[in-house]
Order: sequence, then structure tokens, then C-alpha cells
Amino acid sequence: MNEGKIMPFFRDILRIPRESGHEEHIIEFLLEFGRSRGLETKRDAIGNVLITKPAAKGCEDWPTVVLQSHQDMVCEKNGGVKHDFAKDAINAYIEDGWMKARGTTLGADDGIGIASELAILDNPDLKLGKIECLFTVSEETGLDGAFAMSDDFFTGKILINLDSEDWGQLFIGCAGGIDTTANFSYTPSPVPEGYIATRFTISGGVGGHSGDDINKGRANAVQLLARFLYVALDYDIELCTIDGGNKRNAIAREASATIAFDPDCEDDIIGIFNRMAEAIAIEFASTDPGLKFEAEPVTWKGETIDTKTAHCLIAALNSAPHGVLAMSAEVPGLVETSSNLASVKMLPENTIRVGSSQRSAINSARKWAADRFEACFALAGADVTHEGEYPGWKPDMKSPVLKTTVDSYKRLFGEDPIVRAIHAGLECGLFQGKYPDLDMISFGPTILGVHSPDERLELATVDKFWNLLIDVLQHLA
Ligand SMILES: [Zn+2]
Repeated sequence: MNEGKIMPFFRDILRIPRESGHEEHIIEFLLEFGRSRGLETKRDAIGNVLITKPAAKGCEDWPTVVLQSHQDMVCEKNGGVKHDFAKDAINAYIEDGWMKARGTTLGADDGIGIASELAILDNPDLKLGKIECLFTVSEETGLDGAFAMSDDFFTGKILINLDSEDWGQLFIGCAGGIDTTANFSYTPSPVPEGYIATRFTISGGVGGHSGDDINKGRANAVQLLARFLYVALDYDIELCTIDGGNKRNAIAREASATIAFDPDCEDDIIGIFNRMAEAIAIEFASTDPGLKFEAEPVTWKGETIDTKTAHCLIAALNSAPHGVLAMSAEVPGLVETSSNLASVKMLPENTIRVGSSQRSAINSARKWAADRFEACFALAGADVTHEGEYPGWKPDMKSPVLKTTVDSYKRLFGEDPIVRAIHAGLECGLFQGKYPDLDMISFGPTILGVHSPDERLELATVDKFWNLLIDVLQHLA
């Protein structure tokens, strides 16, 4: 069976272990691949590999193009499947026009990107300009390779990222991000004599990714809890515990707090909670139909958070920016800037930590979003820090490589591609940070179920992807 240009190389890659952080075998393979063909081949300290293919005869004055994929794959398997990702080959098979793996991730994300680069490097007959094939490491676990790359690792001024999974779509932008953390220190205080305590829990939210899903209007359990506690501040409440959310990049699905109060206020406070539950069930009927509000009497023998800190914490949580802050004026429907109020946790040594992240394709707007979050918590007396900042890739509708790719796509397939950007991180954001003049685009064949054992590659889109890639490279001249 004719497998086209890319698939034979993908089959080679299926045999090579390449879990994120354990790329040594694939690095070795790539270095050998380049050197054995007499191509200039190098790696940097972290393991990023660059193989350069000189221009074909007559194409010496064409612009140099960087083709980029990531070496690593997400290694997930179904329960009961015997597979050692450290040494076993991926057991791939074809069914109804799709390639899948038996019980494991396939690694078409981003093995197809790697394979397409190898197909170009291996073919001396292609009439192309100088090509720099870049293979980064540990994309899936935090864009580590792109983070660590120096700003002179490659020379091309045009970069095609081969790590997209939706055939027919051209990606031209992504968000950068930053984490913002607020720490409150409190004085443990005794519970006033005669007080009773109740634990309030909000759970059953849909949650989701803090980038891709931030515009879906879903409930944030931490925010809902703060909304209730803020109203309850009308009474003399004491905050005993508070806990909600988890990961920075997830919308909080669950949150709870234990508060103590005078038994005379019990009916009022429970009433506030129940009325809020009814209102919120209506507000979030279409996005979070499974939301649950529970109030449960508990015995509280411990200390409480001092009243001033508790009030400041609750007020800050209730006013903290969460959700979409700005939409893109250039790309319809694209979230440009957002903030995720991710978590609130009690830590040892009388500390309460609020975790959050802010995203934007525009670096100055992301800085402002982080500053707003900081200002809100600094006003409340918290100690606020920022870390893990990475730059975004601002969409440029006038990008020359976009125009060339759109033209190629129309010529080859007789229809318009979809041009879009995403509100999540991609390696391209980091490249733009290091190489500000880079003109970039990202496209790839259709891969569904990525990062799960359902991952599957639509074979019919692989040849189209190859044809588009070659056509674009030949028209960038
Ligand atoms: Zn990928």
C-alpha cells in the first residue's frame, strides 16, 4: 500500500521511546539521521536538535524556512494494557482510514510533525530553499525546550510549526501567560464562646481549561464561595477553613469553607446560602447543571483566621478578576486577555495562598491583567508575587507566510482555510519572545483524542498536509 511521503518516517518514529523528559533515544536518532546524510546537525544542552538542509540548486536566494515539531509525546495507556513507554514500540494499526494505537496514545502529536521534517530532509530531489528542521524537547510538560533555547539557535526568519491537529485550520497566534500568587498571613484566633460551625461546600462544576474554556461562562467554585461569604460578612462570622480549586490552568470545580457564628444567626446564614444556591442554579443552568450547594453542621474545636484577615481575603476573592478581560479586535471570537482565579489553600505557618494565572496574546495586556490581580490582593494586605511568565504570539493578519499559505491552500483544495488563534500557550509564543521578527504559522493533519489512548490520525489529511507544506515552501521564494 502506498503510504505517501510522511508515513514511512512516522512508522520509524513509532519504534522510538520519547516520553517527555526522556527524549535521549529520539535525540540520538535525529542526530544520526542528519549526520548520516551529511547534513549540518547540532543539539543544545537541553536536547533541542537542529538539522539544516542546504538550498537546492537554483534556490540559493530563497528565504530560509524553519520547520518545527516537538520530539516528545504524552504517554497514556488504558488500564490493564501492558506497555512500557521506556522501551516498547507503539502498536499502531489502521481502521476505517484512521491510524490508532492499541491501548496507548499514538504520538501523532507530534510524531507527524517530526516525520514530515524527516521526509523533507531525506529527499534530495525537492526543489526547496534552505530548510532548518528544529525538534524541541518536553513541549508537553511545559514547553521546556522552547524556554531553554538560545536566541541564535536557528537563522530563518520564517517558521512553520507542525504541531496543530485540525486540518483545514491555520493557526496564527496564541496566548502568553503568567502565574500570580497572593499569600495572606493570619493570626490564629479562638472561636468566640457559644459559637456553632457549618461547613459550606460548592461542587459539581464542569471546570475546564483556563485558556481554551475561559470564554464558556462556566462556574468558578472559588468565586461562588467568595460571593456567598461576602454576603455572610453582614453577620459576625469567623472563618475556620477555606479550600478550593487545584491547578493554575484549571477552572475551579469545587470549593468549601467552614465558618463559625452565633446560633442566633444560623437561620439567616443558611437562608443566604440557600437563596444563593437557587439564584446560581438559574444563572448557570446551561453551563453547569450539576452544581451542588451543601451546608453541613460540624464541630469546630480549632482556631479561626483572625477577623481582619478573613474579611480582607473574602473581599479580595470576591473582587478578583476572573474570566475574559478582552476579546481580540482582529480575530473574531478570539479571547485576547483573561484571568483565572484558580485556587485558595490553607498552608502551614498560618498562611493562606491564592493561586491564579493570566493570559494574553499581547504581552502588555497580560502584564496589566497580572497587575490588576496583584492590586486587588495587595489592597487586602496580601504579599503578591508573579512567576512562570511566557510570551504570547500576537496574531498578524498581514503576515506574509499567512498569505502564502492561504493562497496555496485555495489553489490546492479549492476552498478557504479557517484562520484562527488560540487562547492557550504554544511554543510559537516563546519563539516570538526570542526572535521578535519571526513570521510564523502552524498547521497539521487532523488528530483527534490527543493526549489520550483514543488518539487517532486521519490518514486522508496527511497527504494533503504534505502537499500544502511543500507548496508553501515552494511559494515563499
Ligand atoms: Zn503537540
